[in-house]
Formats: sequence, C-alpha cells, structure tokens
Amino acid sequence: STPAAVTSALARASRIGLLVKGGAALEAIGAVRTMAFDKTGTLTEGKPKLTAMMSVGDMDEDRLLAIAAALETVTSHPLAKAVVNAATDKKLDLPEITNARTIAGAGVEARIDGALYRVGAAKRLDIEPAAEVADWLAAQEDAGSTAVVVLRDNDVIGALALRDTARADAQDALAKLNALGISPVMLTGDAERVAKRMAGELGMDYRAQLLPEDKLNILADLRNDPARKGPIAMVGDGINDAPALKSADVGIAIGGGTDIALEAADAVAVKDRLSDVVNLVTLSRTTRRVIR
Ligand code: ADP
Ligand code: MG
Repeated sequence: STPAAVTSALARASRIGLLVKGGAALEAIGAVRTMAFDKTGTLTEGKPKLTAMMSVGDMDEDRLLAIAAALETVTSHPLAKAVVNAATDKKLDLPEITNARTIAGAGVEARIDGALYRVGAAKRLDIEPAAEVADWLAAQEDAGSTAVVVLRDNDVIGALALRDTARADAQDALAKLNALGISPVMLTGDAERVAKRMAGELGMDYRAQLLPEDKLNILADLRNDPARKGPIAMVGDGINDAPALKSADVGIAIGGGTDIALEAADAVAVKDRLSDVVNLVTLSRTTRRVIR
C-alpha cells in the first residue's frame, strides 16, 4: 500500500497545481538525472512573432507575406500562427489556395493559380538557397530567430524570420536543475544555430534538426546509455510531444495543455511554469527521504 507520506505529498502537490499520477511517478521524478525538454512552447513562450522578411527579385514584401500566410492558414503550428497574425495585422488579402497540406517537421505547401508554393525550413525542403538568401537565413538564425524560406516551384521567392523568446523563468529553472545534479538537454526540430544559441543561454545540451521520430530514438538512446543514472524524463507542453512524453520513463507536461498531454504524462504542472518542474523534483526528493 502507499505510504501515508506519499499520499499526503500527492495531495499537497495537487493543491499547488502539481498533478502527479500516483506514488510510483512521484518517487521516479526524484531519481531523474537526465531531463529532455521540448523547445517550442516548453522552454519558449511558444508565441513566435514575425521579425524580418526578405523578398527575392521583384517580389513585393506584402505579396510575399500574403502568400505565406495563405499557406499557413491550414495548420495550427506556432510558426504558422505567427505568419498569419502578421498578415492580419497588415490587413492583407490572402490569395486563394488549393491542394494544401502540411509537410511534417518541415512546413506547408499549397497551389495558388496553378503554381506550387511552399513555406518551411530550407534544409527540410531540400533547398539550397543562393548565397544572398543563405547569408540572410544564417544571420537571422545566429540572432536566435527561426528562418524559413518561401518557394514557388522550387525557386526561393523570399524568406521570413520568426522569433520565439525563452520563457522568463527558463534560465533560473535550468540553473536550479543543474544544481540538483540533473543534466538538461533540449530536443528540437529547429535549426542548429537557433538551438545552439538558446541552449547556450540556458546552460543545457541540445539536439537540433530532429524529426518527431528522432526525438523518440534519442530518448531510447539516453535510457540505454550506461553512463546515465536514473530514469529519463521528458518535459513538454503537450503540443505535438505526447509520443515523447509517453515514451520517456517520466513524462512531465507543463501547462493545462491538451487532454492528450494529461493522458500521456506522469505529472502535469498545471500553472504552466518551468519553475514547477524544479518544485516537482524537490518535492519528490523530500518525500523519498521521509519514506526511506
Ligand atoms: P519543434 O521541434 O520546435 O516543435 P517542428 O518539428 O514542428 O519543430 O518544425 C521543425 C522546423 O520545420 C521548424 O523550425 C521550421 O523551420 C519548419 N516548420 C515546421 N512547420 C512549419 C510551418 N507551418 N511553417 C514554417 N516552417 C515550419
Ligand atoms: Mg512544443
């Protein structure tokens, strides 16, 4: 049966917005020494904004944005919302699209007046932009923005930079986790340069340009790495990362998120704060000391 100390710790936790699925989950959290984090919406606010645009040749910037926004209306990806919001703010009329589809982990595509347009990561779309565009993308990424290209029939017609800021409490929470002997690692589909910059600021390892299945493979590798002690945790916001939350030894969702996150995770920090991940660890460790 569950020790009384565990039962009361679970009750106390839930009163402060830390929902833990039972005593075993609570105990496992305190033993974690490796914690993987989703980037978008977990380490960041998850609300990117369009910060810069470049158009190629005689393409007009408003036209470029209207095309990109028309394509992005078909998905609820945070980057897509940023592009659509920017076009809405400028009160642009969006062209009509047909045959729209998302390209998982890469972007979106659709037809406008017969031509095939795409918006997304150049690398993922197998595009090697000309030097002028490539330099612009690299500069945006070095500055911490996610840079995507806009294509018409494989020709780059422009590029967009979207900036998502780290959560205000991220640096402090990551420093505390490090101090608790936990190695944090960022897992992201975003570009190497963007991940490197943010991971450096937050004091953590990172793995970039990952496809969703890559994230699951990395979690498995971490678990099988004999140098890593204790269970492997995955922290996510529940948007697109339910499979990773489920496959980790301990899945921690932050934010009320989706019902899927609640179902996939072992613990949910309802108040949507990274500092609550630290609170979960200390609560678990205190409880473990009491019952041992
Ligand atoms: P994350 O791991 O941050 O959730 P994703 O796997 O969703 O990232 O996307 C990886 C990359 O693919 C993004 O950084 C972006 O470059 C590109 N991408 C994905 N979806 C879109 C989209 N709707 N619009 C533009 N670019 C996209
Ligand atoms: Mg996310």
